[in-house]
Amino acid sequence: AGHLQTQALKRPFKLSFEFFPPKSEDMEAQLWETVDDLAGWEPEFVSVTYGAGGTTKAPTLAAVRRLIGQTPLATASHLTCVGATREDVANVVEEFRAVGVKHFVALRGDPPTGVGSAYQPHPGGYENAAALVAGLKDLGDFEISVSAYPEKHPESADLAMDIDMLKRKVDNGATRALTQFFFDNDLFEHYLNRVRAAGITIPIVPGIMPILNLTQLKRFASMCGTSVPAWLDDRFAGLEDSPADRARVAAEIAAEQIADLQRRGVDEFHLYTMNRAPLVNTTLQQLGLSKPKLMVESDAQLAVSATA
Ligand code: FAD
Repeated sequence: AGHLQTQALKRPFKLSFEFFPPKSEDMEAQLWETVDDLAGWEPEFVSVTYGAGGTTKAPTLAAVRRLIGQTPLATASHLTCVGATREDVANVVEEFRAVGVKHFVALRGDPPTGVGSAYQPHPGGYENAAALVAGLKDLGDFEISVSAYPEKHPESADLAMDIDMLKRKVDNGATRALTQFFFDNDLFEHYLNRVRAAGITIPIVPGIMPILNLTQLKRFASMCGTSVPAWLDDRFAGLEDSPADRARVAAEIAAEQIADLQRRGVDEFHLYTMNRAPLVNTTLQQLGLSKPKLMVESDAQLAVSATA
């Protein structure tokens, strides 16, 4: 059983989960239920997003404090610099450091006027995420992850410009990039080749978005510059009145994407959970995985039946 246990605990890839800070008591209850459930997968780390302009500072801080204080999960806090002076950022970093944060996902954030509108750095602030990464490194010995855009950021003129920004973030101390969500693995592979050719060696972790609602997803994708292949429509066609079938198809699609990326050599995945566990669970189950803790229990049963 000892042998089986180590096998069970060894997943073929690393996992991380992203949550957002709850905006109401109901959403808060849902977040903690989700965290309890997904903790069973033993992710490498979890992260909590941070509203651009500091709009969610209090709930992000509260969520991160509880994750660090009351769960065994390694926890990263997202941090944005839009609309903030360097001093503001330093003060926020102090507050997060005080609750035990050692890992930041450092982002520029979107301007208050929305995605795509011209970004104006705060006169006393960091001009982009690369400058924020350098500033964070000056403030402490933090682990720093950053964003990456396999289909380029909407503001980037081309992929080369986008990869140049990633390179600057890495040169300034970022050691992991989490990608914007995407559905076309060929585009990701092309991007990854370009990134490696630019001399960037840090892990580029695909961000996987299970599709809770295709209509909403399309709207969101168009703001982010993510292409939505036509085959997604085909897969969900006719399932408008069947939430259970839609959930099954969504899990199949996410699992197929992960399995295909694994075949292409990817061994680390960041899942956008939307603070809901079921779709993440079924996606990972589709891949033939089960929660390590459950495996250990069934191992124990196996050991009992083997000696009986
Ligand atoms: P940067 O890395 O600074 O820039 C992104 C790209 O835009 C660069 O590649 C660069 O080429 C281009 N660019 C930047 N400035 C210019 C310019 N002046 N002219 C032309 N091109 C330019 N947002 C939040 O508010 N909170 C979050 O918690 C959050 N989490 C995220 C997590 C992940 C994994 C990802 C992928 C995104 C997240 N975002 C979050 C969204 C992010 O804040 C936006 O995409 C924002 O527009 C860019 O931030 P960045 O850190 O990626 O910027």
